[in-house]
Amino acid sequence: MTVGDKAPNLAGQWGHAVDLLVVGGGVMGLWAALKAGRAGLDVLLVDEGRLGQGASYGHLGALMAHMPDKWNAKKQFQFDALLSLETEVRVLETETGLSAGYARSGRLIPLPKPHLRDIAQRHEADAKLNWNAVDGRSFEWRVTDVPPAPGWPQAEGMEGGFVLDTFAARANPRAFTAVLIAAIRALPNVTVLEGVALDNLDAASAGAALSSGETVGFSHAIIAAGYKAFPMLQRLLPAREEPLGMAVKGQSAVMAAEIDPSLPLIFLDGLYVVPHEGGRVAIGSTSENTFDEPFTTDEQLEELIARARQLVPMLKDAPVIDRWAGLRPKAMARDPLVGPLPDAERIIALTGGFKVSFGIAHRLADAAFQSVLGLADVDIPPSFRVPHHLG
Ligand SMILES: Cc1cc2nc3c(=O)[nH]c(=O)nc-3n(C[C@H](O)[C@H](O)[C@H](O)COP(=O)(O)OP(=O)(O)OC[C@H]3O[C@@H](n4cnc5c(N)ncnc54)[C@H](O)[C@@H]3O)c2cc1C
Repeated sequence: MTVGDKAPNLAGQWGHAVDLLVVGGGVMGLWAALKAGRAGLDVLLVDEGRLGQGASYGHLGALMAHMPDKWNAKKQFQFDALLSLETEVRVLETETGLSAGYARSGRLIPLPKPHLRDIAQRHEADAKLNWNAVDGRSFEWRVTDVPPAPGWPQAEGMEGGFVLDTFAARANPRAFTAVLIAAIRALPNVTVLEGVALDNLDAASAGAALSSGETVGFSHAIIAAGYKAFPMLQRLLPAREEPLGMAVKGQSAVMAAEIDPSLPLIFLDGLYVVPHEGGRVAIGSTSENTFDEPFTTDEQLEELIARARQLVPMLKDAPVIDRWAGLRPKAMARDPLVGPLPDAERIIALTGGFKVSFGIAHRLADAAFQSVLGLADVDIPPSFRVPHHLG
């Protein structure tokens, strides 16, 4: 398959035809549209809402590796992706003159129980072995007795001390997608339609019906519609009865506090406290498999905020300036879902990033784009590929 090879039976059936239709302008679809646009493809990016305002409109932006023990291909993929993201972000920031709020400022994990220190020391050795970049840099999972700044977090009761993970980074999700959007809008060969949904997609004739009433033919389509991608893809897999994935609700908040943004984010038992630029600290996240109200916040978020205030006394009186809820795309097989559909190779899945999309979306988009070119240069773990999810 070569670029620009439009589906054979397009002529006349679908009005306009593009090389690549990208459905969904979250972090996944934005990277995909950008990569294809940079390569010169004629791209149409459609989003039923506003670009970047689905699950990608969060506050946290924690960019963290898997644990450094029991190393495998999946952990290596994520490690490499998190490493290359730094360069990709810097290039984008230079191109656009905007900031993604990115910094490799690390992660601090308090160890409330003494036995956790032994485990952490084993991981310290694992990180020495596995957290090494090809450019010679290495990163630490360092066991320490003192937090990096007094009160960040309170040290009392942390009987095992702390772990400082020097590999972790953070970015501001809204600033991050704004940078991607600006870069895409600067590409004349990428057309963006906001407030326009994909209503129907016909794989056989390579055409799509949009909610605007228009139809479009395509050479390839990347389905990056977040949690809504699962039923969309399922419709294209007639033999498939079980859902491919689900939506998992998450809630987060932002506090205004003059905290040094170079401090590491804190992670303890599902609670994240993430310092960002501009006197903002993000707090999150809930993880809810069942919910009645997808987009409102409730008591569960207030509990996280209370825990954050207790863990970090500096936040005791910090005002909460925003609360937000979104739906993460989680594949039933848990890993991201990426690549061409078995009997409809023009259709490429790009979803299921669940809690880690921001750190790996650029590499998953590379893999999706390679599928558009009929290549498989990006070595994604087999468990990310569609056949694994269908099995
Ligand atoms: C509270 C919370 C905290 C999180 N924290 C982190 C974190 O710290 N680090 C991290 O890496 N990840 C985090 N995540 C997860 C991350 O935000 C998501 O995995 C990621 O945003 C998913 O991106 P996406 O592009 O797949 O989906 P989305 O961002 O949801 O984008 C999908 C887009 O598709 C569009 N769409 C849907 N249907 C259609 C249709 N029919 N036609 C056209 N467009 C359509 C939607 O409008 C939407 O814009 C968090 C998520 C939440 C909710």
